[in-house]
Amino acid sequence: MKKRKRKQKRTRRTYKYQIREHPQNMRLGNMLDDLGDVHNHFLKLEKRYYRIYSKYAGRFRLQPHLTKLIQRTKPHWAWIPRDTLDEVIIRIHITYERFFDGLGGLPKFKRKARYRSAKFKTGYKLEEGHVRISFKEWDESSQSFKFNKRWFSFHQHREWQGKVCYIQILRDATGTYWLYIVTNDSTTEPYLATGESVGIDFGMDTYLTLNTGEKIQSPQFLKHALKALRTVNKSLSRKVKGSNNWWRAIRELARLYRHIVNQRRDWHFKLATDLCRRFDLIATETLNLDGMKRLWGRKVSDLSFGQFVDILKYKCIKHKRKFCQVGQWTATTKPCSDCGYPNENLSLSDRQWTCPECGSHHDRDVNAAINILRAACDPVVEQM
Ligand SMILES: [Zn+2]
Repeated sequence: MKKRKRKQKRTRRTYKYQIREHPQNMRLGNMLDDLGDVHNHFLKLEKRYYRIYSKYAGRFRLQPHLTKLIQRTKPHWAWIPRDTLDEVIIRIHITYERFFDGLGGLPKFKRKARYRSAKFKTGYKLEEGHVRISFKEWDESSQSFKFNKRWFSFHQHREWQGKVCYIQILRDATGTYWLYIVTNDSTTEPYLATGESVGIDFGMDTYLTLNTGEKIQSPQFLKHALKALRTVNKSLSRKVKGSNNWWRAIRELARLYRHIVNQRRDWHFKLATDLCRRFDLIATETLNLDGMKRLWGRKVSDLSFGQFVDILKYKCIKHKRKFCQVGQWTATTKPCSDCGYPNENLSLSDRQWTCPECGSHHDRDVNAAINILRAACDPVVEQM
C-alpha cells in the first residue's frame, strides 16, 4: 500500500470544561447514543462493501449514502446537526487510513453507551459560560424540520485563547458531560536554554533513572486505591443487578477510577514539565509495552509508561526541546558505560555490578541511562 502524504499537523490547544448538570443534558446523551448507532451502521457497511468489492468505500461514497438514509429509513437521525453525523463517517475513514499507514488498529463496533464523543464544526455558538447547540425538531404543522436551539451551561474556570476551530462534547463513564474547545492557539513562553542533556531509563522498581544518578519513584496511585476499590466492588456485588442502587455503585466505581486516572495524569504532566525545564535534550529508550505487560501485569498499567512518553513528547514539542528515542535493539543495559565491555552475564536481578574490564562499579539503571544518552548523541546509532 502506497503511503499517503499527510497534512502537516497544526498546533491545536484543547480546553476542557465541565458541563453543568441539568435534566436537559439527556439530549446530549441521546445524541451520543444515536451517533453510536450511526457509527455501527456505517462500520457494518464498510465491512460488507469490503467483502463484496475487496476495497473500502471511504467517506466520499458513504456521505451521500447518509443523505439517502436520513430521507428514507433513518429519519430519526435528522435531529442531529448534519456536520456532526458526517464527522462519525470521517472518523471511520481516518481510522482506516491510519490503519493502512500502519499507525493504528481497525475501527471497532461500539456498544451504544460506549460511544463517547461528538464533534461540532458548525451548529454551535459559544458565549461566556454557555454553549448553544442547534438541534432540529420535526414540526407537525409545517411538516418539516425546524431548529431547536438549546443552551448548555458549563463551568468556565479559565478563558480560552485563540480562534476556536471546533468543539467536542464528551461523556465519561460516570455520566458527566464535558465540553472540549479546540483552538489554534500556539503561544508559549519558551524555557531558557540550560545546555544540559539527560538520558532516562524506565524501570519497574524506580520509575525513572536519570544518567545523573537521580531516581524518581512512582506514587503508584492504583496500588494505593486498591483497598477503596475492593470496598466499592464488594458493595456492588451485593446489589441486585440493574437496580438503582446497582447503578449508583457502578457510577461510584467509575468515579474512583476516574480519580486515579486524573491523579496519574497530573503527576505525569508535572514530571514532564520539570524535565523540560531542566534539560535541552531528553533521550529515552523505545518501550516494548506489550512484552512488559506480559512480564509484569498490573504494575505496568499502573505506571503507564506509554502515557508518560506521549506527554513528554508533547511537552518537548511545546517548549522546543529535543526528544530522542533510542531504538529498541540498541544495547543499553549490558555494556559498561566507562569502557564499553559487554557484560553478558548480567541478569535481571543484578541491581549493581562491577566491570571486570576496567573495575568501575555500576548501578544497573544509571549505567543504562548513561548508555541511552550516549546512543542518542551518536548519530550512527539507529534512532526512532
Ligand atoms: Zn568497564
